Amino acid sequence: MKIKVAKSAGFCWGVKRAVNMAVDSVKKAGGRALCLGELIHNKREIERLKNLGMVFIEDMNDLRKGDTVVIRSHGVSPKVLEFLKRKGVEIVDATCPFVKDVHEKAIKLEEEGYPVLILGNARHPEVIGIAGHVKNPMIIGSLEEIKKLPLMKKLGVVCQTTLNLSFFKEAVSILSLKVKDLKVYNTICSATSVRQKETLKLAKEVDVMFVIGGKNSSNTTKLYQIAKEVNPRTYHIESKDEIEPDWLENSETVGITAGASTPQWVIEEVVNHLLHLKKGGVLSGRGVCQTT
Ligand code: SF4
Repeated sequence: MKIKVAKSAGFCWGVKRAVNMAVDSVKKAGGRALCLGELIHNKREIERLKNLGMVFIEDMNDLRKGDTVVIRSHGVSPKVLEFLKRKGVEIVDATCPFVKDVHEKAIKLEEEGYPVLILGNARHPEVIGIAGHVKNPMIIGSLEEIKKLPLMKKLGVVCQTTLNLSFFKEAVSILSLKVKDLKVYNTICSATSVRQKETLKLAKEVDVMFVIGGKNSSNTTKLYQIAKEVNPRTYHIESKDEIEPDWLENSETVGITAGASTPQWVIEEVVNHLLHLKKGGVLSGRGVCQTT
């Protein structure tokens, strides 16, 4: 059995940077730093960070003056930032620069007089952060809602950095029939589009496909949907323990990809486990997993 791991599987640049900044901040703060919400959507990595001294909080009122607070890669709204400043906490801003770029584009659209539409999941922290940068944003996450929009004179569009590329294209093509002056920024980050394209290609090539990452991770879920559409034997797993040996029956090739918030060590565990289940298995493709 051949195991192919997608080159782009695992932490993206922005998540890697945020995790490194968080770990550094714990050290600098003397062993304890706080983070607003989960730093990344991966339970096992969260556990590792907790053991290092990270504390994850949901309520900003729990903060005390002098605390060190990490803003995760998803970013926050200006209101949240103001609140943190007023609290007198030490801010470590790990907002991904690509997310900051979406903030700037949304602000620019509004300044130019365009009502702003954000394509994405209204409950996702990144989208909430983007929305907080403009006055009256619309947030839409489905084509059905876009189809229901009335004809409009002007509209400016940005999107969640992890949006599905084909959804984005379809949404824009519908909008172009409804809006006279449409200004669109494709703010899907390159890490996301490369990962999605590779996932699609790999899923078509292999007998069985594994997508590793948190069930609460939106970018991992999108990868799963993309792969499942072209390969029915696709499984979304968080760890090696979920793999049922009979999933591998009659398979010669196994593909692996992982969401932007899946650490390298979790991918390696899965690869090692598969090599163990299928004795004689060979890791081919990218060389990121040093398990051959
Ligand atoms: S997916 Fe892209 S925008 Fe999001 S954290 Fe990673 S690099 Fe940044």
